[in-house]
Amino acid sequence: MTERTLVLVKPDGVQRGLIGEVISRIERKGLKLIALELRTVQNVVAEEHYAEHKEKPFFGDLLEFITSGPVVAIAVEGPRAITAFRQLAGGTDPVEKATPGTLRGDFALETQFNLVHGSDSPESAERELKLWFPDL
Ligand code: ADP
Ligand code: MG
Repeated sequence: MTERTLVLVKPDGVQRGLIGEVISRIERKGLKLIALELRTVQNVVAEEHYAEHKEKPFFGDLLEFITSGPVVAIAVEGPRAITAFRQLAGGTDPVEKATPGTLRGDFALETQFNLVHGSDSPESAERELKLWFPDL
């Protein structure tokens, strides 16, 4: 069951020099990178990407954060790629939910600054990949 998922190394991960660490873990898991780009996110793209959180109290901060510096967008492919990457990432709260051994569990402390994004379902993956890599 080959799937595609969208991974982002968020601005905190790029800033902290953790692009290689994220890519390395994706590759070691056996997943394939099929597109990759360092890019500064436009506000409209950020809003669209996080549309499901529009009503949340942290939405404004989240938009400000995700547009604060370059991100690395990666299209990842492999068997059960969506769940596989979510496992590599760990839970959203890097202390309460992500366990050591995961990217967030190993490298993050705050929920907002949790290093990576990964699509959470086949529907999200399709929507997000269209948004970030329309030509893929
Ligand atoms: P995930 O990235 O694990 O799919 P969500 O989709 O729930 O998590 O949230 C999107 C992003 O919004 C999170 O990765 C995190 O950066 C930020 N976020 C989520 N919840 C909070 C919160 N309570 N306070 C601040 N930022 C949050
Ligand atoms: Mg999410």
